[in-house]
Amino acid sequence: MADDRAIALIAHDQKKAEMADFAARHVEILQRHKLVATGTTGGRILEVCPDLNLTRLKSGPLGGDQQIGALIATGEISMLIFFTDPLTPLPHDVDVKALTRLATVYDVPMALNRATAELLIDKI
Ligand code: PGA
Repeated sequence: MADDRAIALIAHDQKKAEMADFAARHVEILQRHKLVATGTTGGRILEVCPDLNLTRLKSGPLGGDQQIGALIATGEISMLIFFTDPLTPLPHDVDVKALTRLATVYDVPMALNRATAELLIDKI
């Protein structure tokens, strides 16, 4: 995908270790792209892959999901990789729903679990 858009990365708390592992395994692909992430997820990724071109936004519950939604609406996101936790109640559940809705509205490729992310990451 030779464009200037960013890949968005988000993981809920129980999935952050998995996201860090995913990023480390695919660091060679990810370092060719601009990345954005919610605050805590981005911090965890940068701990294991400090050289990535990754911009940390607000933490998800404090508006980070909505920031990524806004970037989708303005055409700045090429792909959303979002490791969601379906087993834990979240204070910002409505934000999560709004974000995945916008990704669908704008036809942004979206992986909501690792298996799908593994398929998508080979396509960029
Ligand atoms: P976080 O946000 O990366 O700041 O934890 C993710 C989320 O829970 O939406």
